[in-house]
Amino acid sequence: MNKHLEGLVELSDIDKSVDGFTPQIEIAEKKITKEQQKVDDVTEKIANLHSLIEDNGSKIKSYEEQIATLDEQLKSIQKKNKAITNEKEMKALSLEEELAKEKLTFANEEIERLGKINETKKEEEKELNIKLEELSAVAVTVNKEAEKKLADIEKQKSGLYEERVKKVSSIDQKILVFYEKVRNWAGNTAVVAVKKQACYGCYMKINDKAYSEVIRGEEIATCPHCGRILFLEKVEAEA
Ligand SMILES: [Zn+2]
Repeated sequence: MNKHLEGLVELSDIDKSVDGFTPQIEIAEKKITKEQQKVDDVTEKIANLHSLIEDNGSKIKSYEEQIATLDEQLKSIQKKNKAITNEKEMKALSLEEELAKEKLTFANEEIERLGKINETKKEEEKELNIKLEELSAVAVTVNKEAEKKLADIEKQKSGLYEERVKKVSSIDQKILVFYEKVRNWAGNTAVVAVKKQACYGCYMKINDKAYSEVIRGEEIATCPHCGRILFLEKVEAEA
């Protein structure tokens, strides 16, 4: 095999190896995102619960203020009761008292109802906080593992890049440009083997002329059907 072609086959192997890391990187990154998403979801739930509890709390407070005002009102009604001079006044005052008492009952009922809701919600919040702690701990562990994996991949990749730079410097510039051109559309199958007189990129049989060119290995041969760069596999070359 010609030296440039040999270099291309090796370069293509390096490029394949670099690309081969992509799924592993995606898996590691997905793991990190997935755990973080769980943490974020629970954090959001807690925040929503918290604002509901606060909201109910301020409602309770405003009912308590209402009760204080109504108490004052009832006291003043009782005072006025003593100074009543006619039936009309009595009726008006009694109506006012009835209304105030109704409001008082309602406010007390609401305080009780909201209080019960908040008890339940606070319990839920407590449980969610425990869950958040657990999820955060898991996320930290998963993150560490994934980051380690990513760093390891990065190390291997930079090793391959170094190899690539060396390889590239040993290949003729024109051939390199041609390789990149084919790689643009063929990706990791830019350089493929010929087996049983067939291109292993498009799996079509190549004609005798193209085949003999591949066998000679003097020039960079391409598949007449798909245009990929061809090389003869060592086993076939020896045979
Ligand atoms: Zn082909």
